[in-house]
Amino acid sequence: MWTVSTYVLRQKLAGRKQYPLVLMLEPLFRCNLACAGCGKIQYPAHILKKDLTPEECFRAVDECGAPMVSIPGGEPLMHPQIGEIVEGLVARKKYIYLCTNALLLKEKIDLFKPSKYLTFSVHLDGQREEHDLAVCREGGYDIAVDAVKVALKRGFRVTTNTTLFDGANPKSVRAFFDEMMELGVEGMMLSPGYSYDKAPDQKHFLGRARTRRMFRAILSNRKKEWQFNLSPLFLEFLMGKKTYPCTPWGMPTYNVFGWQKPCYLLQDGYAETFSELLATTEWSKYGTESGNPACANCMVHSGYEASAVHATFNSLGGFLATVKATLFSRYRDDEALRMLEEPMAAVHPLVQIAATSDTLQETRA
Ligand code: SF4
Repeated sequence: MWTVSTYVLRQKLAGRKQYPLVLMLEPLFRCNLACAGCGKIQYPAHILKKDLTPEECFRAVDECGAPMVSIPGGEPLMHPQIGEIVEGLVARKKYIYLCTNALLLKEKIDLFKPSKYLTFSVHLDGQREEHDLAVCREGGYDIAVDAVKVALKRGFRVTTNTTLFDGANPKSVRAFFDEMMELGVEGMMLSPGYSYDKAPDQKHFLGRARTRRMFRAILSNRKKEWQFNLSPLFLEFLMGKKTYPCTPWGMPTYNVFGWQKPCYLLQDGYAETFSELLATTEWSKYGTESGNPACANCMVHSGYEASAVHATFNSLGGFLATVKATLFSRYRDDEALRMLEEPMAAVHPLVQIAATSDTLQETRA
């Protein structure tokens, strides 16, 4: 928090209007899962074969200057030089969130040393049944939880990241929070799913009104034990208590194609450098207010969390709202309690990506 606060204040003092907070560094697209809500492994084999080199990663991190680096993918533990990449980023004193489904974590854990700069951000989309359904892999939850226990025992920092789709049961999500806190993770990250046009399941993404309603049910009447690894104002945004414009430059994406325009989710071209990304992207074409249909239902953290952090530091009111949300708010809400008792529609199985044998060979590489 201290690093982020001082970084944001430095940007403000320098008069910068667009600054990155978290670099989303995708060093590969290969994965050992085929989740229905994600389309990354739909790339052709020659793209799936590509890896960013450690030097390319370091160049992007140095150029961007963000204090935090999130490493999603694909599955970053499948990158042959992931240990070297993480070591180089720790040496640069970047706070790293290595986003993993944890299937390989026990096997690869000796590549890493515990550090305050390194956090394993383990992908868990809810309790056992919900997670296994979302990632289309029976037993995935148990493997991930087992790996979390091992990582915690070895002294690593561990958080969870959870994507929630339409049909998520708020009561079960709250029980999942209890499970994760009992497990000993440091914090939990949440985001509504986004309708990737490459994702095979297009039926279970949430519209904005349903997103707010679902998060109101989940996050109201909050237990004090729950720790979230997100800006408290972003959580209020998800609950419909705040509105923010999208600031996609706050979490820029770098991958094997270059700097992705305009955000982690859309692909409207690429820039060769971060400064080119800032200068050549038509930012006014994006965000919910822009009228761009691709942005209409989006409330994901990579577009809006940086906006919430910006709001914290943009005025005394924003700062006081953050302090209040952090220290005092449990969001008592009787209507939200009632919503927890509403009958849930039967959950339809998500669509399994039909992986071709070629793709499977690639992802096992
Ligand atoms: S609203 Fe969502 S999809 Fe649109 S630019 Fe922002 S983060 Fe990307």
